[in-house]
Amino acid sequence: MTKSKKVVQRALLLDQKYEVLSIYRGDFLSGNGTTCENCGKVISNIAEIKNSSNTVFQVGLDCAKTLQISNPDDFSGLEYPFKQVSKFLTLSRKKDSKVSSDGFRAIVNFTNYSKNWGEFTDSFSVFNEWLNRHSPGWEKLITTKNEKDE
Ligand SMILES: [Zn+2]
Repeated sequence: MTKSKKVVQRALLLDQKYEVLSIYRGDFLSGNGTTCENCGKVISNIAEIKNSSNTVFQVGLDCAKTLQISNPDDFSGLEYPFKQVSKFLTLSRKKDSKVSSDGFRAIVNFTNYSKNWGEFTDSFSVFNEWLNRHSPGWEKLITTKNEKDE
């Protein structure tokens, strides 16, 4: 993840094209401080984009979709992995969830519920590569012991 210079600008120009560089979750990177450089809202689903003069902006994923994107295929190609990572992060925050990794995939075990069977243990996994790309710092979620320290 490259850190870029922040530029104060009220809103991005709609008649300009922007290249999507990456999409990531801001949770671990920023705590609570990331705001959209387009609309000013606090964001956790962040798109890093740059204009034709190579100025980089952090905007919300929703705002990015309102702009002209010069590489729409790259953008949509990033969305599926990003969504899987988002699902993984949500599941990993469940009270009794346990996260592990074999170095290639990260696995979250959690309690699921079905009408027929009641509670049962379920799991979901994503590639480490995707987590590294879309949620730097995710390794903090790995639980090696039975109880998560809050
Ligand atoms: Zn925005």
